[in-house]
Amino acid sequence: MFIGNHLSSSKGYEAMGKMALSLDANTFAFFTRNPRGGKAKEVDEKDVEKLLSLADEHGFGKLVAHASYTMNLCAAKDEVRNFSREALADDLRRMEYTPGNYYNFHPGSHVGQGAGEGISLIADALNETLTPEQTTTVLLETMAGKGSEVGRSFEELREILDRVSLREKMGVCFDTCHVWDAGYDIVNDLDGVLAEFDRVIGLDRLYAVHFNDSMNGCGSHKDRHARIGEGQIGREAMRRIATHPLLAGKPFILETPNDDEGYAREIRMIRNWTEG
Ligand code: FE
Ligand code: FE
Ligand code: ZN
Repeated sequence: MFIGNHLSSSKGYEAMGKMALSLDANTFAFFTRNPRGGKAKEVDEKDVEKLLSLADEHGFGKLVAHASYTMNLCAAKDEVRNFSREALADDLRRMEYTPGNYYNFHPGSHVGQGAGEGISLIADALNETLTPEQTTTVLLETMAGKGSEVGRSFEELREILDRVSLREKMGVCFDTCHVWDAGYDIVNDLDGVLAEFDRVIGLDRLYAVHFNDSMNGCGSHKDRHARIGEGQIGREAMRRIATHPLLAGKPFILETPNDDEGYAREIRMIRNWTEG
């Protein structure tokens, strides 16, 4: 299976690859720039080359880059929206140094404009930015529905996807904590939730999993991640998700509150579930 966690990009690409190997990971996530915003460092091509050959040599799965949290393509303020569009375009340009991977982002918060307006602003930004030449697949993350987050239901994600003309460049990242917090009961009815995802969006659009337990209950709309087995989703349900045949082969990214040793331990536990 392809499993890894969020790594700090501050020491560069090769350093992330080596860190992943030290955790027994074979994929990872990284912020394309400081998660709280700011200017991105220019890419060092030699450094990227080293990562690409390391990833190739060790059979890594797709990498799942994550956009900055400050990016909000459906902000009410023009300057925030414009900054977000520029960040998206710049991130996608830099993603091409690691061709063929995934770029995940939070659709955005409509801040009172309504989900419909949010959806159309997000789709407009994507239509302005995506190009037929790009090799990156852009993923919408399923959201917990905290505040005015867009993407709190499969229907909202589907509506964004429907409005993007370069559909083949788009997919969805399934965050287990967020889906649960949004009100989908993946503990008692995982098959039903996946069937619902398939009916509304299509499982062929599910490219990656953010694998997190949740501190809160189903439908709580809180978005507080817990370590695997220590939250309200719980170990057994997390095990069923990790071993579900419909999710096999996707990159699983841990975003759990852990130090390096904790991540290594979770990766080992999940590998034991799936690889016996
Ligand atoms: Fe996220
Ligand atoms: Fe996530
Ligand atoms: Zn979250």
